[in-house]
Formats: sequence, structure tokens, C-alpha cells
Amino acid sequence: MSYVFHRNLATPLPVIVRGEGNELIAEDGRRYLDACGGAAVSCLGHDHPAVRAAIKDQVDRLAFVHTARFTNQPAEDLAEFLVTRAPPGTGRGRMMYLGSGSEAMEAALKLARQYYLERGEPERQHIIARTPSYHGNTLGALATGGHESRRSPYAPMLMDVHHVRAPYPYRLQEPGESPEAFAQRLAQELEDIIQSLGPERVMAFVVEPVVGASLGSQPPPPGYFARVREICDAHGVLLIADEVMCGMGRTGSLYALEQEASAQGAVCADITTLAKGLAAGYQPLAAVLARESVVQAVAEGSGILLNGHTYMAHAITTAAALVVHRVIEADDLLMNVRARGAQLEAGLRDRFMAHPHVGDIRGRGLFFSVELVADLRSKTPFPSRAGVAMAVREAALALGVLTYPAQGCVDGINGDHVLLAPSYTSSTAQIDRIVDVLKAALDQVLASKRHAS
Ligand code: PLP
Repeated sequence: MSYVFHRNLATPLPVIVRGEGNELIAEDGRRYLDACGGAAVSCLGHDHPAVRAAIKDQVDRLAFVHTARFTNQPAEDLAEFLVTRAPPGTGRGRMMYLGSGSEAMEAALKLARQYYLERGEPERQHIIARTPSYHGNTLGALATGGHESRRSPYAPMLMDVHHVRAPYPYRLQEPGESPEAFAQRLAQELEDIIQSLGPERVMAFVVEPVVGASLGSQPPPPGYFARVREICDAHGVLLIADEVMCGMGRTGSLYALEQEASAQGAVCADITTLAKGLAAGYQPLAAVLARESVVQAVAEGSGILLNGHTYMAHAITTAAALVVHRVIEADDLLMNVRARGAQLEAGLRDRFMAHPHVGDIRGRGLFFSVELVADLRSKTPFPSRAGVAMAVREAALALGVLTYPAQGCVDGINGDHVLLAPSYTSSTAQIDRIVDVLKAALDQVLASKRHAS
């Protein structure tokens, strides 16, 4: 009998008592290789000695001071570390700290609104986001997200947000259409909706540069973000990049948008949200990075950041994140993300390219997914009630590997994919094992589905 209000009240959960490297160890001694970091969180294993030491050291010095009156050194040092490594165009940006990805998204939306109030453009209020997408579970973030099954229970409580389609080549790219032409066509949807709402009334376009759980680690087609940036600039619309899941090294660069630089130059968001890989699960921490022009609007206007929370800039959480990113840099772990990511992709393509129920393999860095379909030719998804992705998770778990299943990539309800997001410290042997176990789990589940149908 548990007194914790768990996500699923019907199924008792194993108790994890310890982490060792990239493995989690349960009370009964079972070991699980973590191939998904929970939800793309634990990017530096579960017991990194430098992170443990830094947290203990910070506990001995200082935990909490209120940000209305004081600052603290770890918060200052982390902001400097991350802002000075942000995409060109960030300039003397600033970092605001929060406790979760959802909170960061709320703060990002509110900062966009404040930006226009400071500039004397109060009529800017429309938010445009994409489907599918997930931006969090608080009401503003949930309204912004484009994921039907998550939104529908709360529909009467959600503010109006407009949505365009996220580029999803497997289902939206037309035969014979080049990736570049596809990118331009999908970016045009943004231009069209801005025109229909009235450019002077649009506040922000919200995107996950590499779409996370709602679509399954979907990278953008080439040129998409260069065009999106151009459209936002032409209409004075703020670009908000939700890098909660895909940022902080997950796709092989510290910021996911770095990889969207083109001949026209770097693509820099106006506001970027960060979480998961920020403190790698060692502490709960999220952040909002505002580029210099956004900071300036506030500095030259009221001078006051309107959005505040009690636990902003907590010294222990920021000390943990600072050491996480110092370790990633010192150990050149982004190189490992790219190398092991290439190995993961090659392994998945080798095993699943000709698989009768794997429709698509997509991702970047150590962030890859396989989309499962009932019929390869028609791309028909399994019915959501069949719970195929969840069944694959259970089968992989029984084989000792943790994966992240999700549903809804096709229409917000149907469409199964299994997402992998292993630690940046993964070894070649661990990546091989992840691919082997995923293959065994998939075969086991799909054989039983075939048998049942
Ligand atoms: N944004 C993205 C892209 C996410 O993947 C998530 C969580 O999965 C969130 C926002 C919300 O973060 P949190 O669960 O920490 O509130």
C-alpha cells in the first residue's frame, strides 16, 4: 500500500534503490540499462562522482536565498557558462531559472508578452505553435502543445493557441518532393497563419527544434529554421525554441538550434527553454534563456522581470547543473553523443530497415525513435487501444533495458513510437545491447499482435 499518488494506481511500481553508471538497480537486485534517461533526462548516468561531490559541497555552503534580494555564485556561474556558449546572436543574453520544463514554458510565454508590453505593442497576443508538440502540463504550456489526447481532458480550461503542422517527412513529404522544398512548404504554413491573424497581433511562434515525445525525435528538414527565422523577423514575431528535451547536448550540440545554421548564418531563437539535460536529473532545474534584444527591451522599459517564483536560482540545483556541463565539456562528451549516435542510427537501420512493422527511424545524436505501423505500405498505425508502444516498453524492461514509448504521433491519439535517449557516457557495448534488446522486444510484441489478429 502506497500513499504516493502515482501515475498509474493499478500497477505497483518497482522501487529503485541505487544508480550505478548508466544502470538503475531495484530493491530486488534487478539491474536496468537506462536507454532513455527516464524522459531524456539522465544524460550523465546516475552516479557521476563529480556531480555528487559538487552537490554535497554546495549543501555544506548554501542552499537557498531569495532572488528578490540576493544572488548566489553557482547561479551566476551557470548563466555565464551557458549564455557564452549559446548560438551567435544571443549576445549578452540572460538566464532565468525555474523548476521544471512546464514552468520554463510558462515563463517564456509570459516573457514574450512582457517584451511587447515594454515595446508598447499590447495588441500582440497570438501564440502560434505546432502539431504535434508537447510543451508541458501546466495550463499555458498544455494549451500551447499540439497533442490531442493530453489536451482534451482540459480543453475548457485552455487558452486559444493557433497551430501549424510540424514537418513530419514520413507522413507529410510528398513523393518526389525534395527535403528543401518540403521545408519551404511547411514554413509557408507559418507565413500564411501570421497573415490571416494579422502580423501586428502575433506574439510568438513556439517550436521544439527537434520534436520530442509527441513525434519521436523528429529533426527539421534542411532550411526550415532559416526560413522560419526569416518569417519571424519580417513580422516582428518572437521565436521561442523549446529545447527542454532536445537541448543541452542531446542531439550532439549544446543547443539543438546550433545545427540549423545555413549559408545565411546561424539561427538564434529569441527565447529558449531548457530543462532535462540541464541538470541531468541530479537536481530538478529548468531555465529560460533570453537573447540580448529581449533583455534590452525589459532593461530599457520597466527594468523589472514580471515573472517570479520562490525557488528561482536555487544554489544547489544550479551548482549541480554547472558541474554537469563542465564535465560534458571537459570530457568531450558531445563528441561521444555524435559517435554513439551514429552507431545507434546504424544499428537501428541495420535491424529495422526491412522490418514489416517499422515505418520510420528518425532522430539526431543520442535521440532516436522507431515508429511502428500495422501496415508498412499504407502506413496505417496500430489502433491506440492496442498499446503497442507500451507493450514494447514492458518487453524491453523484462529484458533489462528501459525505453520511452509514446502514442499519438499520427493524429494526437494514434501512432506508436519508441524513443531512445541514452546517456552521453554510453559505451559501444551499451548501444549494441540497446539495439539488440529493442529488436527482441519488438519481435516478441509484434509476433503476439499478429497472433491475436
Ligand atoms: N517541453 C518539452 C519539449 C518536453 O519534452 C517536456 C517534458 O517532457 C516539457 C516541455 C515539460 O517539462 P516538465 O515535465 O519538466 O514540466
